[in-house]
Amino acid sequence: MAASFKTLLGKLWFRVLLGLILGVAFGFFVAGNPNGINGAGFLTSYIKPIGTVFINLIKMVIVPLIFFSLINGIISMTDAEAFKRIGTKAVGAYLLTGAFAVAIGLAFGHLFTPGLGVDLSALASIAGDAVHKAATPPKEVNIIDIFVGTIPPNVFKAMAEDNILQVVVFAIFVGVALNRLGAKVQILIDFCKASATLVFRLIETVIRFSPYGVFALTSWMVGTQGMPILYALLKLVCVVIGALFTQYLLFGIMIVVFGRMSPFPFYRKMLEPQLLAFSTSSSKATLSTAMRVVNEKIGVSKSSTAFVLPLGASINMDGTAIYLGITALFFSQAYNIPLDAHHYFILILTATLGSIGAAGIPSGSLFMMGMVFTSVGLPLDGIALIAGVDRILDMMRTTVNITGDSVITMLVDKSEVTFDQAAYYDMER
Ligand code: ASP
Repeated sequence: MAASFKTLLGKLWFRVLLGLILGVAFGFFVAGNPNGINGAGFLTSYIKPIGTVFINLIKMVIVPLIFFSLINGIISMTDAEAFKRIGTKAVGAYLLTGAFAVAIGLAFGHLFTPGLGVDLSALASIAGDAVHKAATPPKEVNIIDIFVGTIPPNVFKAMAEDNILQVVVFAIFVGVALNRLGAKVQILIDFCKASATLVFRLIETVIRFSPYGVFALTSWMVGTQGMPILYALLKLVCVVIGALFTQYLLFGIMIVVFGRMSPFPFYRKMLEPQLLAFSTSSSKATLSTAMRVVNEKIGVSKSSTAFVLPLGASINMDGTAIYLGITALFFSQAYNIPLDAHHYFILILTATLGSIGAAGIPSGSLFMMGMVFTSVGLPLDGIALIAGVDRILDMMRTTVNITGDSVITMLVDKSEVTFDQAAYYDMER
C-alpha cells in the first residue's frame, strides 16, 4: 500500500491531482478559519505568489517556444521535397481540420457557457495582470488592420510585448528564408533545431513545478471564490469532453463522406494506439504504434505512413485545438470580458497555430494556452486552475489528436490510390 502510494507520488499527473485536491481543501480551510485571520488576504499575500511563479515560468517560455518550434517545423518540411504534392494535400487537410476543430470548441464554449456564473474579474485586478483591451474594445478594427498589424515593424518589440501574431509572422519569414538558403546557413539551421530541443526541455522542467502552482492558485481561487469556481471547472470538463466526443464522431463521418468507406474497421483497429494515447497523454509517445497500426492493419501505404502521419503528429492536434477554443471562451466568460467578432477571428487563427505549435507531450497545450490568451488579452492566472484538471482532459484530447492524424493519413493515401482497401476490411489483421 505504502509502496504503491510512493510509486504514484513518482508520477507527475498524480502530484498535480494531489495539488488540486489539497488546494481545494486548503482554500476552504483558510477561508473558513475561525481564528480571525483574513483568509482571502492571507491566500492572496502568501500563497498566490507561488502560483504567480508558475504562471511566469509558463510565460517565460511562450515566445521562444513559438519562435523556435515554428521555424523547426518549417525547416523539417524540406525533407519532404519529394512528397510535395502529398505534402500540400496533407498540410491543407490538417490546417482545415484544425481550424474546424477550433470552431467546434468555440461553438461549444459559446453554447454551453462553462464560465458563466463565476466572476474572476476581481481576481484579474488583484493579479495585476494586463486586463483585456476589449474592456475598451477597438471598435473599428477591420480585417485589413488585423493583417497590417501582424507585420512586426520591430521584432524585438514584438517579442518583448508578447505580440504573438507578429512573432509568428517573423518566425515564418525566418523559417522560409533558412529553407531557401539551405546548406549555406547550415549552422543557423542546426542552431534553430538545437534551440527547439532546448525549449522542449524547458517545458518539461517548468511542468514539474505544476503541482505547486496548481495547489497555490487553486487554494487562492477557492478561498476567495468558494463553490462557484469548482462548479465552473466541472462544467468546463463536461463541455470539453462533449466537444471532443463530437469531433471523434466527425472523424467517422469524414471516412464515410471523403473515403466512401465504413468507419467501423477504422475505429476497431485504432483502439490500440488510442489506448496508448489515452494512457501516455503524448502524441509523440504514441506515434510509432500508430504508424504500425495504420500501415499493417488499416492498409495505408508505407510512404504515406512514413510521411503524413509524423507530419500530423507534429502539426495537427484537433483535440488540442478544441481545448484551446473552449478554454479561451471559458475565461472570457469567467473574467467577464466580452469578445467581439474580431477576437473570434484571432482566436481561430491563434488556436489553430497553437495546435500546430503544441508539443506532443503531456500538457503541451498549457503553453499554447498562454499564447492564445495573450493574443486576445485574457489574463493568464486561470491556467494553473485548469492545470489541475488538465490531465484527464489531456488523455482524451491526445486520443482525438492521434485519431485525427490517422484519419487524414488514410484519406490522403486513399486519394493517392495507394491505399489497400482489402486490408482495411480484413478484421483478422
Ligand atoms: N498531450 C497532447 C498531445 O501529446 C498535447 C496537448 O497537451 O494538448 O497530443
